[in-house]
Amino acid sequence: MQNYKDYYAILGVPRNATQEEIKRAYRRLALKYHPDRNPGNKEAEEKFKEISEAYEVLSDPEKRAIYDSQGYAGLRSHGFRGFEDISDIFSAFSDLFEEFFGFSPREEQRRRDGADISTEVWLNFEDLFTGKEVKVSYSRHEACPTCGGVGYDKEKGTKVCSVCGGKGRVTYVEGFFRLSYTCPDCRGRGFEYVEICPTCRGKGLILAERELKVEIPPGVEDGTIFRVPGEGEAGLYGGRPGDLYLRVRVKPHPYLYRKGQDVYLNLRVPLISALLEEEITIPYVNEELKIRIPKGVQPGEEITIKGKGLPSKDGRHRGDLIVILEVELPKKISQKAKELLKELAKEEGWDGGAEPIILSPTSQEEREAKGKKRGGFWERLRFR
Ligand SMILES: [Zn+2]
Ligand SMILES: [Zn+2]
Repeated sequence: MQNYKDYYAILGVPRNATQEEIKRAYRRLALKYHPDRNPGNKEAEEKFKEISEAYEVLSDPEKRAIYDSQGYAGLRSHGFRGFEDISDIFSAFSDLFEEFFGFSPREEQRRRDGADISTEVWLNFEDLFTGKEVKVSYSRHEACPTCGGVGYDKEKGTKVCSVCGGKGRVTYVEGFFRLSYTCPDCRGRGFEYVEICPTCRGKGLILAERELKVEIPPGVEDGTIFRVPGEGEAGLYGGRPGDLYLRVRVKPHPYLYRKGQDVYLNLRVPLISALLEEEITIPYVNEELKIRIPKGVQPGEEITIKGKGLPSKDGRHRGDLIVILEVELPKKISQKAKELLKELAKEEGWDGGAEPIILSPTSQEEREAKGKKRGGFWERLRFR
């Protein structure tokens, strides 16, 4: 940090300059080094900061008095610090610039960060097992390739406004009146561009179609939002681009559903298959899965098939497949089958005198809760 600054020399005014003189000097220099007139010019930007700091001190009687008696170090010890950023200057002096240039400065050319964009992409349930590279298409504003985002031909640059001669204001005399107003041509800036960019017509941005490939990891939940940094709208005049927020949606599967990494399947098997502990083949994602019905399994019970669920995001761990068993009773049976069943009943000692089982209130609630949570056997039996 510099510890001596000659603010009078910076503004080119004598030490006894009046407030009017200081202001005039600042106006002249501010026009010259204004960032709008010197886009991308770091030196001019530094100069603009320097003159603004000088003006900030010398235009304020209290600060000027401290500076005059104790110098720059004195100001620092009173907590004074210059301007960090160009935008600080515009906010500190907005009224002054309004007066100088006739409009709020850099309304158009102030550094602006690009907006975020959000969009959606749909996956199939099966995609969750492997992850998927998706193509995302959307439109966004990008820096104009012709002018590089400045809105005019940089090589041809700027010229003094022919209407106001660079003053930013136009004055005319009518009878006894002298009227002064903001130059309509340059909107008070005092200069104009020699050639406006024909591609973006001065906006600096063009609307472009963007296509992006995004790798969606396996196992993502429906509604997960991914942030793709820098893929939103382009910034203006050195502003940062926005981000793309990609919301992943998962199409519901006709019969599979998930809870965390576990996949659930409600399997309905005929009574006979259940009793005979048969092996059932079901299509599952990209394979045929063979499930042997466990001995003594009851309707609504879960059969856990380890490691057949969804992978974790890093692909290292997989959840389970949980099969909830439903048993289907035959709707009609032949006379012969009835005879065989009677035979069976005798063999197994089933006497047909079944008594109703009264569930205690708690176990009933539990059962209902269980049924609801899983969409279990009893509930479905009722509604199908
Ligand atoms: Zn003008
Ligand atoms: Zn352009």
